[in-house]
Amino acid sequence: MHILLIDDSEDEQYLLENELLQEGLSSGIKRVGNQPDMQAALASSIKWDIALVDYFMPDFSAEQALQILKATDRDIPAIVVSGQASEEKAISMMRLGAKDYISKNNRFRLIPSIIRELESHNKRKLQQHFERQLHQTEQKLAAVAEAAYDAIILMKDDWSIEFWNAGAEKLFGFSKKEALGVNVNDFLIPSRYQKVFRRLFRHFAETGKFSIPDKTFEIIVLNKSRKEIPVELSLSSVKIDHHWTVIAIVRDISKRRDLERKLRRMASHDPLTSLVNRREIMWRLNQEMIRFYRYHSPVTILFIDIDNFKVINDTHGHNIGDKTLIDCARKMSSLMRRNDTIGRYGGEEFLVILPETHTKKAFDLAERLRTYIDKHSENAEQQIPHYTISIGITELTDEQMNISTFLNIADKTMYKAKQTGRNRTCIDDC
Ligand code: GH3
Ligand code: MG
Ligand code: MG
Repeated sequence: MHILLIDDSEDEQYLLENELLQEGLSSGIKRVGNQPDMQAALASSIKWDIALVDYFMPDFSAEQALQILKATDRDIPAIVVSGQASEEKAISMMRLGAKDYISKNNRFRLIPSIIRELESHNKRKLQQHFERQLHQTEQKLAAVAEAAYDAIILMKDDWSIEFWNAGAEKLFGFSKKEALGVNVNDFLIPSRYQKVFRRLFRHFAETGKFSIPDKTFEIIVLNKSRKEIPVELSLSSVKIDHHWTVIAIVRDISKRRDLERKLRRMASHDPLTSLVNRREIMWRLNQEMIRFYRYHSPVTILFIDIDNFKVINDTHGHNIGDKTLIDCARKMSSLMRRNDTIGRYGGEEFLVILPETHTKKAFDLAERLRTYIDKHSENAEQQIPHYTISIGITELTDEQMNISTFLNIADKTMYKAKQTGRNRTCIDDC
């Protein structure tokens, strides 16, 4: 223990040392009798636990000593010891920051007062230390929450928002001021999901648990401009002061969703013509064949091939060849009925699936395609030359037939159209 004794009498030092020893307290007492010595002691590296100030000193006053102590910013508790018992002096000393005022008549109070001051000083220091630590932890957590890319939202058990980070502001477009205190269900959840959420909230308020097995799930939320955003939502809860707090971490997955959509499209579509690709058209044909086997619902296919396409490439260049393919795909698509599917089967070959359609009706459609292209294919502005198509029609009738046999027959039928002069439609028994 380090005691700074601000007193000009040596007697006082010996007296104090004895008294402290009797109490079982060993101490390092440093006595200073004037202002420069006091300031030197305060400037040293010693951590003074307490200062005892003599009220009466010939060259130095207790007021000055107290002011110097205050100015150090070191929070050293001070006790003033005086020869006289004076309430007035006591009050003025306390006003200057003294913790206690003891008259020499009541000297027996000094040691208990020192002990009490030291204890309360230590308590105060400890509390300050914890408060500082708590404040730092709070600041760090707030910084983490603020820096997070995800929206972090804390809600009370009545689902009113009590914390809203910068990520939430960015994702939802609502500022902290707008969001705090508002019920989540009312303004972030689309109306079609509100019933489900209300049930979830009620269950949670009663049990503190979510009635969903998986605490991370994908939902749609609404932003400030009422746009729907797909998000991944993680929910957890913590009980603070007998109340449940819900912690929601919300991640915007619209970019991921867009990418998934793009990838799915890339996997199923032809980049040049934007029609479904061979893999997709085969899968769809397989589905239609299953329907045929199960329900005998008719299905007919058109195998379509552009005539003399090689000549177009050779004469006008590959680029015009590509343009011709795009033009052909677009023209045919525009003539399709809603449930028909057209896909790019290979280079300049297309496959059309006509569900619920027999040969006769398929023939009508095929002829519509063929004649339309024959009539309208030439487009000088787009440098597209006149071109024609040959079509083979096959209706599925044999329950034993597999997909490749079915396609083979259609291909052969188309080939017959080529052999009989091109720009023709052939049916498999023609
Ligand atoms: P046919 O009337 O007998 O069908 O004759 P064709 O010239 O149309 O048939 P062939 O099979 O001899 O030639 C098809 C050509 O299509 C060959 C190939 O280079 C071309 N081709 C395939 N895919 C593409 C493509 O994506 N772009 C372009 N420009 N040409 C392609
Ligand atoms: Mg071909
Ligand atoms: Mg061809």
